[in-house]
Amino acid sequence: MSELNLILLGPPGAGKGTQAGRLSDDFGLPYIGTGDLLREHRREETELGREADSYMAKGQLVPDELVIAMILEKIADEGDDGFLLDGFPRTIGQADALGEEMDKRGRRLTAALLIEAPDEVVVERLSGRRQCSNGHLYHVSYDPPKHEGVCDQCGRPLTQRDDDRPEAIRERLAIYHDQTEPLKDYYDERGLLRRFDGTRDKVEVHDHIRATLATLRLEERL
Ligand code: ADP
Ligand code: ADP
Repeated sequence: MSELNLILLGPPGAGKGTQAGRLSDDFGLPYIGTGDLLREHRREETELGREADSYMAKGQLVPDELVIAMILEKIADEGDDGFLLDGFPRTIGQADALGEEMDKRGRRLTAALLIEAPDEVVVERLSGRRQCSNGHLYHVSYDPPKHEGVCDQCGRPLTQRDDDRPEAIRERLAIYHDQTEPLKDYYDERGLLRRFDGTRDKVEVHDHIRATLATLRLEERL
């Protein structure tokens, strides 16, 4: 079967993590969540975690060289038969590094899935986001857990991320527009960009992405 090498793009809060969980189940793809991996390093206080800490708390990007090394290693370890990358690349430098690595291994990206949502929508979503330490996602109004503060799936406590607070949210959005948005043109020029309306209900967004991927996969086989 042809491999799916996918990346998810979009502003913080657009629903990338929410969709990634479903898509990785649908297509049996290893999910490589950049923010989740970095948060794990922070929790375990590794050297990378300590270096990343102050950037993340302020909502700034962790320097390219650290993130690139972490992700390329993860792809080499787990992504041999395809992967779903969430939150990487976020800069042109990261996109170039990923492209070069793929070329070197004779592989190519299948698509860059862009989930779009305007600033006012994502601010609302990030402010109400809660998650457990396994990365299961909720929203206090749009997707509340059955029991307040407890994950439906694993019973762990739900917490708010330290960067889901107003100041860090503003900083992350400004950085998104400045450094990550240029990747739309980057992948569009390479014929890889697929756009999805992230303001729709999460089930609808999921259906649209799944349909697009099913078509892409069929085209690959022809
Ligand atoms: P969100 O889900 O809100 O889009 P993430 O969980 O993906 O946010 O990322 C959280 C934080 O981790 C970012 O604000 C940034 O500090 C760091 N980070 C994540 N991905 C990258 C990346 N590709 N490059 C640099 N820093 C990153
Ligand atoms: P990202 O990974 O892009 O930062 P998340 O998947 O973490 O975004 O979603 C951000 C917040 O918005 C979470 O609280 C999530 O429950 C909620 N959310 C995700 N998708 C939708 C949607 N389509 N409609 C309403 N809320 C959503």
